[in-house]
Amino acid sequence: MLGLMQDWPLTVPKILEHALRYHAEREVVTRVPEGGIERYTYADLGARARRVAKLLRKLGVRRGEVVGTCATNTSRHMEVWYGLMGIGAVCHTLNPRLFAEQLVYICNHAEDRYVFLDGAFVGIAEALAPKCPSVRGFVFLTDRAHMPETELENAFCYEELLSEVDDDVEWCELDENEAAGLCYTSGTTGNPKGVLYSHRSNVLHAMSVVQPDSFGLGSRSVVLPVVPMFHANAWALTFAAPMVGAKLVMPGADLSGSALHELFETEGVTFTAAVPTVWLGLLDFMEANDLRLSSLQRVVIGGSACPRVALEKFEEVYGVDVTHGWGMTEMSPVGTNSCLKAGMESWPRDAQIFQKLKQGRPAFGVEMRVVDDDGKELPRDGKAFGRLLVRGAAIAKGYHKGEGGQVLDAQGFFDTGDVATLDPHGYMQITDRAKDVIKSGGEWISSIELENLAVGHPEVLEAAVIGVPHPKWDERPLLIVVRREGSRVSKAGLLAFMRGKVANWWLPDDVAFVDEIPHTATGKIQKRTLREKFAEHPAAD
Ligand code: ADP
Repeated sequence: MLGLMQDWPLTVPKILEHALRYHAEREVVTRVPEGGIERYTYADLGARARRVAKLLRKLGVRRGEVVGTCATNTSRHMEVWYGLMGIGAVCHTLNPRLFAEQLVYICNHAEDRYVFLDGAFVGIAEALAPKCPSVRGFVFLTDRAHMPETELENAFCYEELLSEVDDDVEWCELDENEAAGLCYTSGTTGNPKGVLYSHRSNVLHAMSVVQPDSFGLGSRSVVLPVVPMFHANAWALTFAAPMVGAKLVMPGADLSGSALHELFETEGVTFTAAVPTVWLGLLDFMEANDLRLSSLQRVVIGGSACPRVALEKFEEVYGVDVTHGWGMTEMSPVGTNSCLKAGMESWPRDAQIFQKLKQGRPAFGVEMRVVDDDGKELPRDGKAFGRLLVRGAAIAKGYHKGEGGQVLDAQGFFDTGDVATLDPHGYMQITDRAKDVIKSGGEWISSIELENLAVGHPEVLEAAVIGVPHPKWDERPLLIVVRREGSRVSKAGLLAFMRGKVANWWLPDDVAFVDEIPHTATGKIQKRTLREKFAEHPAAD
């Protein structure tokens, strides 16, 4: 027997309509990349997104066609997202931190019809123009006065185009399974692969992240997404905030400690999210200038493992609750959060920190299991580690245009490429990326754990651990360190600091001091480059 409930497609325009109906006066504030703060309301965002929809139709963009954006977090960028998705077009976020050849590949693979971009990325438009025949034009998200200088013939000014259309337009009646967004994974090997989100997956994922044990958002929240919209949908915040009527504060291009701190304080921000490097920068800045945080309640740290120092400083010095988050582009992207469960409030502080530093447990909608190399499920005992597999309502079942072939196993699980444990409380902990784990004498060493330990040293700014070839042990860990300014900390000093905190055979054989550690376009340490650079590093006895 079938149920007798309404068929109410879960589509992105419904999020905006809800915000307009119930939270029309809530503010959306932007630090405009060209300078200054602009503020308007969800009512304005809605009206302008409709004009974008009208403009797109005028430009000949049809349902199912792909349009690129290459922009920082601004209200204009958001208008374009909602305008595109509202007419059934697919919003493809291009990451400006990628190399030009990668962007050319991605843009051609996606067949972008137009690209909407910040003025600062004019160089990207110029690199794409001669090599991407599908792109009919580049629309700069600015007004005439701030248009970048360019020889491009098909460069347009966003505000000028918008001023030529009205907002008299209806959203498309969409099927919830139609594509809404497209985001390519950086692909450390091979070409980037496109993850094609549906309206349904975006809505379900946003409904999941607002829950108290995930991001905990509501109409009284003030959300500042530091994580860029081009990095896996700003971790759903541009859907989640209007869904619950939270005030949004968009930081634009300046993600420095001083710029963020100023916005946190002047706008009364309660919630924010970003990768660890951003937070280490902010903490440094606040410490150096003896600053406090007066409104911030929760910070999500994810994308890479959360260093213990960041958690301790936020919670103990600044009184801000830290949620460690894990996910991936293929998961929309949020997979788990490390919020404590009932009963854990009374645990000793050290045990709480240990638990919160795990990557966490999923909200409803994500299933996880850990398997060995034969695909056999491993016990959820917090010790056995293996490949982490996931299944759920907002997880990819394949890549755009079939790249990478079949990606699900017989039970419909997706292999995350991460190696992890699951504990009896349901918390997952990443041991490593499968390709980064160090295989020493048949046993595995977690590069992440060693890195976290090393950055706990007060004179270490950043640390990376890679396996270097060893004649007897296959691989041994090499610690690569960027020292803080003025620090003279030595190899012996660092190893003494780490000794006793991990098994002795885990201790790095050597320490290399460098000026800088390379990062990927999504802010992760570029291990492959480091492995190439240190391939000839002499093995210890
Ligand atoms: P990329 O395009 O770089 O793959 P993703 O954001 O999709 O960007 O990366 C997903 C991967 O990032 C995960 O599979 C995992 O290895 C790593 N990751 C994400 N969050 C965490 C975390 N909290 N701790 C450790 N690793 C993480």
